[in-house]
Amino acid sequence: MHDLPQPGRAPARPPVVAVNIARPDLRRWLPGNCGIPGAWSFTAEAPGPHVAITAIIHGNEIAGAVVLDRLLRLAVRPARGRLSLVFCNLEAFARFDAADPTATRFLDEDMNRLWDPGALDGPRRSAELKRARELRALFDSVDMLADLHSMLWRSDPLILAGETGRAAQLGLAIGVPQTVVADAGHAGGRRLIDYARFAAPGSTATAVLVEAGDHWQEPTVARMEQACLRLLRLAGLVEPRPPLPPIAPAPPPRLARVTRTITAATQSFAFLRDFRGGEVIPRANTLIALDGEAEIRTPHDDCLLVMPTPMVPRGHTAVRLARFVD
Ligand SMILES: [Zn+2]
Repeated sequence: MHDLPQPGRAPARPPVVAVNIARPDLRRWLPGNCGIPGAWSFTAEAPGPHVAITAIIHGNEIAGAVVLDRLLRLAVRPARGRLSLVFCNLEAFARFDAADPTATRFLDEDMNRLWDPGALDGPRRSAELKRARELRALFDSVDMLADLHSMLWRSDPLILAGETGRAAQLGLAIGVPQTVVADAGHAGGRRLIDYARFAAPGSTATAVLVEAGDHWQEPTVARMEQACLRLLRLAGLVEPRPPLPPIAPAPPPRLARVTRTITAATQSFAFLRDFRGGEVIPRANTLIALDGEAEIRTPHDDCLLVMPTPMVPRGHTAVRLARFVD
């Protein structure tokens, strides 16, 4: 038994996080240029992959919109292939209010849990499903995609790669953020990176989700921008040269594989203390949370906590447990 010294349920309160970046004015980008509002797509004469960068699939994660706005203002164009820059949940983003910044993650439902045929082709209606159905045709031709996100709860930045080896390789090749996590997604629905185009075993298209850092902070914007520049260079689309910022050196990336996804089974899921994402729990069988009466323990030594989410509603992912792969 390796219980923590002072077991007890940690009080779960949403962190009060200052909004230190301004919401960009996207009015000039709303029409798009490829028949889909908010979607900009540029095709080079030389053949090459179709690379897409997506932002604000969660409407309040405005850092991604800052980065795409910059790339569009700088008139970045691909030297080969095709580059698409896509503002996803425009309606939720339009309602972003710095006085209540967590309220606009979505309007009706999480747009990053809809990417399976059952939801996309089914009869259900919501603001997010309508938008996902609109964007789907564009994503159906994308070869490499980076989906830009930021985080509410304290965590080291990371790249989520889903289950395919090719996505893990893409995450490692991008290398910023440094930690790449191969995971099986959420019980609550498929993310854009889990969409069949990107995640099916036979496909060659690949997508990663960049969790670039804390919501609404300048270092998060800078990290996202580095991830985008690295992806564009890697794909051979855009050489970073002025006026683009230079690519900064980064430490070698690390791959971790999720060994267990903890989904809250009760309304009273609680961590035993205020864990931070990126923390490594040294000993197996350490008690980290209580889900009703059920004990949640680390399944192995050196257990990486991926995005622990206090105040998790029943049926949602509370934390993913992972192991570094050498
Ligand atoms: Zn997000």
